[in-house]
Amino acid sequence: MKVSRWCIIVLRIDHRPERDKRLTTHLGLTARAFGAQGFWITGLRDPNITKSLQQVCSQWGYRAFSVQYKESWRKCIQGWKNKDGEVVHLTMYGLHVDDIIPKIRSSSRDKLVVVGGPKVPSELFTLADYNVAIGHQPHSEVAALAIFLDRLYQGSSLRITPHDAELTIEPTPHGKRARERNT
Ligand code: SAM
Repeated sequence: MKVSRWCIIVLRIDHRPERDKRLTTHLGLTARAFGAQGFWITGLRDPNITKSLQQVCSQWGYRAFSVQYKESWRKCIQGWKNKDGEVVHLTMYGLHVDDIIPKIRSSSRDKLVVVGGPKVPSELFTLADYNVAIGHQPHSEVAALAIFLDRLYQGSSLRITPHDAELTIEPTPHGKRARERNT
């Protein structure tokens, strides 16, 4: 699944099932809906997340969207860089997205987009190629990811309907209308 000239993977570090089950699921949903090709998770294993995301993919498409648990965020970053990808860390301490996004867009390198949990290891700030702030106020990893991907794709990913969807929406000004494949 590659909807763009880049391969984009979102890496969520330090998942804790009891603390952020819904938040991490929402991050995965946002990654998929806004044009990433995969979602990697480090921290404690939580099969429910993989299951929920796979259910969404089997109904709404992008079955190739890859959800994987990884042992170590550091190894993910090293492996990504070894394959000549670049690493974008979303943090309110970074450079403002509007100032740095032209440079990120102009690079043809694949991108690993890293979002943190409550505590982000300081080493991540030096390992990242770009530390990008979606404004300089604290908010949420889901909001930060959505805005970053939307700016990266300049809104285009929201117009795509997955070719392998079982269900698609027929937009209506009022009410709800969905169509099943082959009906
Ligand atoms: N205290 C954490 C730290 O040391 O950076 C931040 C915790 S915040 C609830 C969780 C994650 O949301 C962050 O690691 C970052 O990825 C994302 N985030 C929150 N606000 C952001 C902003 N203004 N810009 C970019 N990312 C942000």
